[in-house]
Amino acid sequence: MPPTVLRVALPLPHPGLFDYLPQSPSDLLDAVGARVSVPFRSRELVGVVVEVGAAESAPDRLRTIVQRIDAAPLLTGELFDSLRRAARYYHAPLGELLATALPALLRAGEPLPSTQAFTWQLTEQGRTERDRLRAGGRPRQLADCLLAGAVSEPMLADHMPEWRSAARALLSRGLVERIESRARAGATSPQRGPRLHDEQQRAADAIVHALGSFQPFLLDGVTGSGKTEVYLSAIQACLQRGQQALVLVPEIGLTPQMLRRFRERLSVGVDGVEVHSLHSGLGDGARAKVWASMLRGEARVLVGTRSAVFCPLPQAGLIVVDEEHDGSFKQQDGVRYSARDLALLRGQALGVPVVLGSATPALESLAAVAANRYQHLRLTHRAGGAVAPAVRVVDVRRQALQSGLSTELLAAIGNCLARGEQALIFRNRRGYAPVLLCHDCGYSAQCAHCDAPMTVHARGRRLICHHCGSQTYTPKACPDCGSLALQPQGVGTERLEEALASAFPNVPCIRVDRETTRRRDALDGMLQQLGSGPGILVGTQMLAKGHDLPGLSLVGVVGVDEGLHSADFRAGERLAQLLIQVSGRAGRATRPGTVVLQTHHPQHPLLLTLVGGGYAAFAAVELAEREAASFPPYAHLALLRAEAIDEVPLREFLQAARDAATACLRAAGVELNGPLPAPMLRRAGRIRWQLLLSASRRPALHALLNEWLPQIYALKSAKKVRWSLDVDPLDLY
Ligand code: ADP
Ligand code: ZN
Ligand code: ZN
Repeated sequence: MPPTVLRVALPLPHPGLFDYLPQSPSDLLDAVGARVSVPFRSRELVGVVVEVGAAESAPDRLRTIVQRIDAAPLLTGELFDSLRRAARYYHAPLGELLATALPALLRAGEPLPSTQAFTWQLTEQGRTERDRLRAGGRPRQLADCLLAGAVSEPMLADHMPEWRSAARALLSRGLVERIESRARAGATSPQRGPRLHDEQQRAADAIVHALGSFQPFLLDGVTGSGKTEVYLSAIQACLQRGQQALVLVPEIGLTPQMLRRFRERLSVGVDGVEVHSLHSGLGDGARAKVWASMLRGEARVLVGTRSAVFCPLPQAGLIVVDEEHDGSFKQQDGVRYSARDLALLRGQALGVPVVLGSATPALESLAAVAANRYQHLRLTHRAGGAVAPAVRVVDVRRQALQSGLSTELLAAIGNCLARGEQALIFRNRRGYAPVLLCHDCGYSAQCAHCDAPMTVHARGRRLICHHCGSQTYTPKACPDCGSLALQPQGVGTERLEEALASAFPNVPCIRVDRETTRRRDALDGMLQQLGSGPGILVGTQMLAKGHDLPGLSLVGVVGVDEGLHSADFRAGERLAQLLIQVSGRAGRATRPGTVVLQTHHPQHPLLLTLVGGGYAAFAAVELAEREAASFPPYAHLALLRAEAIDEVPLREFLQAARDAATACLRAAGVELNGPLPAPMLRRAGRIRWQLLLSASRRPALHALLNEWLPQIYALKSAKKVRWSLDVDPLDLY
């Protein structure tokens, strides 16, 4: 009789499970979902037991686990089921998916952390001696923060990323104390929110009515229409039922301002609940702790980015995905999952409503509404009486531009500032200029490792590749002809900032892009610098959402034309979303807003439709085109990507993969395209090729992938390349 073994999923690029003998027979009891550490080659790995059963390999080849880590299974019920379903959907090894899903500490085999909650407060001595702390220093900042009363550790972490060292310093001097606070759970009563207007109320009622069963909603509401108020109202109803709520937000949507708003509404009063957050700025310890308190049902509300979709929800009531169209919900390496789609998968498994909210829904979501798979909730006007901004398209052909700015836009900015208001100038290119060009011979600086131009930075002194990060100093003379006539071509945010600061020297001009906001809370500080008086914000799509900017009345959009000519079939959708989102920033409160859109293509159909009919009109046209061309959402894609130093093994691998797929094409209805070079052939020194699979019916695609993937793993040529499978790819490169 074969021995009974533990079948373990390990974090390896290998599709199967691995058999191990238990240390003792008790290791086999209630083992599914428990972590074990096991020997693998010469290493020790942490894996999760997926099955207990009779060994399939010869007993003399079996090894024994090092240790069973969890006495009781860590992964159970819906969460473990959903993770297994997700691995099947993305055709990813379960062990790799689990490694993606679990917080780093748990993945490393650490015990589930304690979820004792602590708050900090000033002591009597601290109150009297606070004044003597050096102004501007961290300890002083912390003491000031505690002046109004005790503050919980997660809240401190949100306000001051480095609060712990300051707290230790104050603790050692007896100025603060740390006290355990009982986790506050239970009902909350609605507080202080504005009265919902009719459309909001109808939307909230529909969601509340659906509590207790699976129902996807698309909350389709223009910017400022009060979607967040609808979420808050539904979350309060969910909390009153004693259930947990999960809110997913895009990476740049999770700002301290947003969390404050949730806390002001949900954490007030004796029966308020703590609003937990999960994002990349948190340390490993804090992440594991949030996960554990969700698992124990202590945390009731979690607001988090992409990976929060993997949190345990034992008492789930509601899942919200805010800005559901946002690209940051898609993981772009490792297991390439979509948090939005997994939110739906989990909502279904949990039997809870899932609310997808956006002012510019993904075309996938609009198609699901048309197919009656999602219930459509619409908010058609702005809350609080604000009107939609007026859009002016400025034709810049044959116009002299000043660092990319037209006379008309400059005049509009001047008027806006003169009224004491604020302007936002949007340009989706960071750096000084996109290209360095030799005016004498036409040379342009290219990255040595990628098929892409270097971007000019630091006012022209540096060249940086935005694809691989390589950097050089700008050459003094042209490497090809020796001419000194090297000139930055075009404008990026840095050059715009320079131009605007010199044109309007008397107001603050603040640049917001990835370089100026490396720290998570930097944006908050920068907007405080802007204040409420006249001023200019210039930046990339980081400015397209998040903060409420009541003084903002003008939005200028510069250089969107690249987006009109991209080969990517999603480029139009992305551009439309960006234009609508950034326009939505203008005139939120009492003042009407204006949007000035500069373009060389004022007659482009996308712009005409968007300006004339808004996002809905654009979406209708775009959906019809996608249908005619058999692109998503009317087709389902999977992309097999491969990269290597040389081209030969790549073509060999993809050709073999193609042959294998053709052999399984008895599962007809899947079209193969390729092997083809990626649109950007070389990146970071590697050549990239790909094979695209497309099917009009999802089951046909998945049937093929099921049969095909084991064969790909078995291909000899697969060992010589780096390959990955992307199910529902966002980008085709
Ligand atoms: P969205 O999430 O759709 O962009 P928000 O929920 O942030 O919109 O609301 C936009 C602004 O309108 C906020 O300042 C909010 O406080 C305000 N607001 C929302 N709903 C109402 C309402 N029913 N009455 C008055 N003001 C509201
Ligand atoms: Zn030259
Ligand atoms: Zn590069």
